Amino acid sequence: MSFPRRDFLAGTAAFAAGVTAALVGTKRADAGDASFMNNVPDPLLSDKELPTFKFALEKSKGRVSGQNYAKEATVNQLPISKGIAGVTMGLAPGAMRELHWHATAAEWAFVNEGRVRTTVTGPAGFEETNDFEPGDVWYFPRGHAHVLECLGDQPCHFILMFDNGYFSEFGTFSITDWIGHTSKALLAKNFGLPESTFEGFPEKEVYFAQGALPPAKRATPLQGVKAPSETHKYRLLANPPHVNNKGGRLWLVDSTKFPISKTFTGAILELDPGAMRELHWHPTADEWHYVLKGTVSVTMFGSGGRYRTETLEKGDVGYIPQGYGHSIENVGDGHCRVLIGFNSGVYQDIDLSEWSASNPPDVLATNFGKPASLFEKFPRKDVFITG
Ligand code: MN
Ligand code: MN
Repeated sequence: MSFPRRDFLAGTAAFAAGVTAALVGTKRADAGDASFMNNVPDPLLSDKELPTFKFALEKSKGRVSGQNYAKEATVNQLPISKGIAGVTMGLAPGAMRELHWHATAAEWAFVNEGRVRTTVTGPAGFEETNDFEPGDVWYFPRGHAHVLECLGDQPCHFILMFDNGYFSEFGTFSITDWIGHTSKALLAKNFGLPESTFEGFPEKEVYFAQGALPPAKRATPLQGVKAPSETHKYRLLANPPHVNNKGGRLWLVDSTKFPISKTFTGAILELDPGAMRELHWHPTADEWHYVLKGTVSVTMFGSGGRYRTETLEKGDVGYIPQGYGHSIENVGDGHCRVLIGFNSGVYQDIDLSEWSASNPPDVLATNFGKPASLFEKFPRKDVFITG
């Protein structure tokens, strides 16, 4: 598929990644980096059979507190998903996912229902507050602090994706956990306030905090406004789709349109009944699925005769490792919608029809042992989605 590409930049990044991998040897593999740059085979993908690539996320237990919930898919729930973890989260009106950070993974999110307000703080105190509606996405770089608030009097639901399958939403660095375990004397010195200021503060992590509905317009931060140069918000579904074929549509955003999202690409794939996203692979990224609506059949080809099919329903998660062949077919009665994440800031794919169309008929004839005239009937350009 010909999306705008920054091949020179992508090539430079790949070269840099290769150098880094060479310098640290197999340590990257031990740390869970599924990149092929280190040439260490992933033992999970070296067996005769491919492992499962499906996890029923919404049916899992997770963490529930009143109307607030968080359920995660990490390598613990879905061992194949070493490159990307994901979370489904719901917040009740007046609830927030408290101030926290995580330097082990960047966070990319899609708002599915309701409205959400985020405030993110980067180095040097640059901060941004954004209000999100369904179809909007955010990206927070690794280690940047943030808070998520449910806006208005209706609950909200969003899906978070992280560029590290070992990342756990329940191992983040939360502000109450930190302050609750620091002595009042140290806090008093830190803030230049009397120790009594910190009496009655939570003694352990709050995680979900409950309070009044946030103001319709955000109040000014204590320091005043200090806006960053790059925004953390992109209106994915408010923009036209990147692909609009008979049979389906794909909305996609990577760093070429959303510059801060340097390590992640996100997409919404919508297919009419019976339509499919054709057989393809991604040279530079793992792929993570969350089914928002409908039922899809996902195939995965893993070389050496290994092939696996999973049926994903609403609320299920799927995962395709970098370079593995796959397709997504709508096998339900109605439209389907799949949220798709890639752990690369520049989107790339190679489709089977694009591959065959890029070869002359005699090459295909010899390869398949069939007459060249047969291949004259094959597509002359990328199919991508077929109805
Ligand atoms: Mn977070
Ligand atoms: Mn794909």
